Amino acid sequence: NAKSSGKNNYRVFDEEMDRKLLRKLELEMDLRKGLAEKQFIVDYQPKWDVETDQISGMEALLRWNHPRLGLVSPGEFVPIAEETGIIVPITRWVLQVVCLQNKIWQDEGLLKVCVSINMSIRVFESGSLYEMVTEALEVSGLKPEYLELEITESIAMYDVEDTIEQLTALRDLGVQVSMDDFGTGYSSLGSLDQMPINTLKIDQMFIRDSNLPSKQAIISTIISIAKNLKLDVVAEGVESPEQIEFLQSQGCRVMQGYYYGKPMNPEKLKEWIGEQKEVKLKT
Ligand code: C2E
Ligand code: MG
Ligand code: MG
Ligand code: MG
Repeated sequence: NAKSSGKNNYRVFDEEMDRKLLRKLELEMDLRKGLAEKQFIVDYQPKWDVETDQISGMEALLRWNHPRLGLVSPGEFVPIAEETGIIVPITRWVLQVVCLQNKIWQDEGLLKVCVSINMSIRVFESGSLYEMVTEALEVSGLKPEYLELEITESIAMYDVEDTIEQLTALRDLGVQVSMDDFGTGYSSLGSLDQMPINTLKIDQMFIRDSNLPSKQAIISTIISIAKNLKLDVVAEGVESPEQIEFLQSQGCRVMQGYYYGKPMNPEKLKEWIGEQKEVKLKT
């Protein structure tokens, strides 16, 4: 009857909760070991300039190859790493790997573009970001203008003065800064003009439904904000020619998404770049 099946539902719900909690605890316990034993991988996703028809940058996206659970997405483990604070040494590692990789690509003559890295609020709170960035640049020999930090509105807002101070120091070095997932956070437009940033990234949530007039209105507004503040603009999560057509008609020239390329490991990326060059030669 209804009563007992209700009870059953609760039990299923409890079991589901237990499983989720256990998985979270397991990931939490294994993060430190994962970093020490180099279980993390960095993939790279191209950003495409539709006006020059060339790759104009890349974003580094972290993956965790867990020995028992397999590939774990950053959407799952980054929040846990943030809670425990281990995101700080993980970010130090990502900065080093990405700067070295980018320098290698430049030295090989494969490509010379800026690569961006996602930042957590905890890294700003730790006060060691500047030191981590300068160390990674020094060790790799990469020029600062080829490194970009992607921040979110919550980072910008946690302590506006402090964020501006840290970002200004990095900007003075020549490092680029972009505002990720723009339009989804709690930032007030009041401090956006004070943020030392170069680029706004339109969140994929708006791009996904960019056939809807309401989303189109938001996208064009974000693009005009960027224009008026003299910022570049990147659209993320671009998957179809219709989306590209609309974005381009609104003045957005840099796109990132599965339509152009998924996040790839360095080997795969090299192949992909080769393919792009071939396509160019044919056309
Ligand atoms: P994000 O920075 O907004 O990255 C964009 C996410 O959208 C990535 O998911 C990417 O793989 C995915 N994506 C790109 N193009 C498309 C598309 O056309 N369609 C769809 N459906 N998705 C697309 P991913 O790699 O799972 O990363 C999720 C989030 O995890 C990132 O969101 C970022 O906030 C965080 N993250 C990733 N790497 C790092 C890192 O090294 N450090 C920190 N702190 N966070 C990271
Ligand atoms: Mg990002
Ligand atoms: Mg994003
Ligand atoms: Mg996003």
